[in-house]
Amino acid sequence: MLSADFLNLGKDVAMVNANADLFHLDIMDGVFVPNISYGFPVVEAISKEAVRPLDVHLMIVHPEKYVRRFAEAGAAMISFHAEAAEDPAAVLGLVRSCGAAAGLAFNPDYPLEKVRPLLKSCDFVLVMSVFAGFGGQKFIEETYGRLQTIREWIAEDSCRCLIEVDGGVSPANSRALSEAGADILVAGSAVFRAENPAEVISSMKSL
Ligand code: ZN
Repeated sequence: MLSADFLNLGKDVAMVNANADLFHLDIMDGVFVPNISYGFPVVEAISKEAVRPLDVHLMIVHPEKYVRRFAEAGAAMISFHAEAAEDPAAVLGLVRSCGAAAGLAFNPDYPLEKVRPLLKSCDFVLVMSVFAGFGGQKFIEETYGRLQTIREWIAEDSCRCLIEVDGGVSPANSRALSEAGADILVAGSAVFRAENPAEVISSMKSL
């Protein structure tokens, strides 16, 4: 929703309700990432109108301080950055204890070996295919290999963990991402900057 038209948010919420599977909300604090996005009033407003689950992606320091409030604001899925958490396993447990699905997000340069032991505690991982902080960045091609590695580990370790990809996702790479192991594709500017957003979403879903 970072790419939505905030003066016509109701229109974009209705479009997502009608076409997509979930709302992805990027929360930026100006500390973990240089940018600032939006906070609780916007999340609560979307939650009131949403018929699809809210997937809140926290790009903030001290995520543990805000997990409960985002769950209360209507988040069904909450991810936070491994780079921003002192004890990611504890934060994953906190998210679950608030009744939301727990996701671990990490940037394209985060060592995957540090992710593996946490997979069993995750409902999903959010693999960043650009660096967190801004919409509209170019997709990083190394993401495919990282997805394949994570998919293999999930199978080998018998984890029940979905893989979400975020950053530069569009109809041009959605099929390849899905084949590499992505279960959930997050698209922002590719959808909202399109002349026909519904058509773009439908082309990414009919892989
Ligand atoms: Zn995101």
